[in-house]
Amino acid sequence: MPSHRLTYRRRQQYNTRSNQVRTIKTPGGELRYLHIKKKGTAPKCGDCGSKLSGVPALRPREYATISRPKKSVSRTYGGSRCANCVKDRIVRAFLMDEQKIVKKVLKESQSKKK
Ligand SMILES: [Zn+2]
Repeated sequence: MPSHRLTYRRRQQYNTRSNQVRTIKTPGGELRYLHIKKKGTAPKCGDCGSKLSGVPALRPREYATISRPKKSVSRTYGGSRCANCVKDRIVRAFLMDEQKIVKKVLKESQSKKK
């Protein structure tokens, strides 16, 4: 008869967030704790706070082990802002530029009158 009291398989002995376990049955039919790693959080858009799609949610150390193209998308502000916010930025920049040109043209036409 296997005992039903399971023990942690590591040195830490408290039920903390970093010491979470799952009960599994080994191939040998033994019940045992399986230590579970903490879940990563997905990188978020710096403007609207929504999760960035195309970038995996990993623990900080795991980002160091994956390659660069897996951490961003090939777009301006790729791994930092979401597509909608980049679109807004581009439109805003364009409109600001247009406004400047309009102001310039108005000024020129006024100076010609005089
Ligand atoms: Zn956004």
